[in-house]
Amino acid sequence: MRIVTGTVSHETHVMSNISTGLDEFRSRRLLYGDELFSEFTGTATPAGGIIEGCKRNGFELVPTVFASATPSGIVTKEAFDQILGDIVSRIKAAEPFDAVVMHLHGAGVSEEYMDIEGKVLIETRKLAGNRPVVATFDLHANYTELMLENADMLIGYDTYPHVDGYERGLEAVDLTARMLDGSLKPTLGFRQPPMLPALQVQFTGRYPMKRLIEEAHRMEGLEGVETITVAAGFPWSDIPEAGMSFIVTTNDDQLLADSLAAELHDLAWGMRREFLVSPTPMREALRHVGKAKKGPIVLADIGDNPGGGAPEDGTVVLKAILDEGLTGGVIALIWDPESVRAAVEAGLGKEVSLRLGGKTDNMHGEPLNVTGVVKHISDGKFTNLGPMSTGAESDLGETVVLDIGSNDVIVTSKRVQPLDLGLYESQGIDITGKRFVVVKSSVHFRAAHEPVASEIIELDTPGLTSPRLAGFKFKNIRRPIFPLDVEMLGITELKSMEDG
Ligand SMILES: [Zn+2]
Repeated sequence: MRIVTGTVSHETHVMSNISTGLDEFRSRRLLYGDELFSEFTGTATPAGGIIEGCKRNGFELVPTVFASATPSGIVTKEAFDQILGDIVSRIKAAEPFDAVVMHLHGAGVSEEYMDIEGKVLIETRKLAGNRPVVATFDLHANYTELMLENADMLIGYDTYPHVDGYERGLEAVDLTARMLDGSLKPTLGFRQPPMLPALQVQFTGRYPMKRLIEEAHRMEGLEGVETITVAAGFPWSDIPEAGMSFIVTTNDDQLLADSLAAELHDLAWGMRREFLVSPTPMREALRHVGKAKKGPIVLADIGDNPGGGAPEDGTVVLKAILDEGLTGGVIALIWDPESVRAAVEAGLGKEVSLRLGGKTDNMHGEPLNVTGVVKHISDGKFTNLGPMSTGAESDLGETVVLDIGSNDVIVTSKRVQPLDLGLYESQGIDITGKRFVVVKSSVHFRAAHEPVASEIIELDTPGLTSPRLAGFKFKNIRRPIFPLDVEMLGITELKSMEDG
């Protein structure tokens, strides 16, 4: 059997002013054909799982295009046209094939399409005809009717931090194998409660998301149930379908699929108040750090998370740390290629004065005038230690560590979410001996940092990924939706809201 695969992965924050063109894909990953194997074989990623799943099933895997960019603003028409065009021509060239197993993100928006994955799946379906079309998705996918109409199965991650991409890739291939041998007729039940949770409360390690995932796993043990997707969605792609979804896949049992999807919908709706967020005021957290006996305290700058499309050049937390006179910390990180170049030109061990960060927009703090000593210079490449994407390569671009006020400030040329401890190791930093570490991350940092952190505090910082969703001007999301519409806090007739 021959299986075709391809990837378009972008989480689009439509309010970001960093436009997403081909350069943004090239800067992260734009791979063609067999390059997929050298990049992902043996890695704990969806592509790694698809590669391994095909090997175990004795399938030949034919990669087309793997396109992934760091979350940022709307994808340009030019970039999407070229990526989609390459996928289409390479699927055609892969004939004769037996099935398509894609890895998509699920929250991509281009200048032309609000739902780029739906568009990819329509074009794929045209070429595949009756042959299986299966796709894995991120937990932050916003599922649409277009996606459901054009794929046989949509399999999302069960975890945030995303540590099960590999397992979902394997699962997608195994279920495709059962479609191919005729033992599985996927039948989907789909429900979307009017809920738009912020990233903070999508963390699957604690209530209420944990409860939803546990319930889905219990249901997956029922006779006839094949796989269940619980998606928390991504608010800032600002499409009508943004938010939470449930997809139940049974083996030819529509009634069961529909009723289980409805059960999950009602369970989530009943817990909606638990999806409200209350991060810690920054000054309160920093005063606590000042008094703490044990480190490292991990401070999450949740408003400036590049993994959700924020610029990662925000200075709000660094400024407050310097104002408070806190020392012995690590700032991971500030994206500022201009400052990196200036520091590299000054040279290792030299003092340098910079206008640091705050250059992308006016939501994440002003540029800071600072003086620091260049402690470390590197090409910024490192291998992920895991548990997220274990074995996959990360690239910060040219990177320096500056000693500013006796804190290690990591300044990079690329936007990369600090979620892996390999990042610090590559910069000559041992965070276990530090008082605190600031991470520009909402939830992903937890997977690697929780085991070494003395404490974790989510800071109430401003920015494009702030959990204060009511502060954003959404244009397209269906209304009413919780928690944007405050009347939904109370007891309202669910039926009428769904109709509305
Ligand atoms: Zn995600």
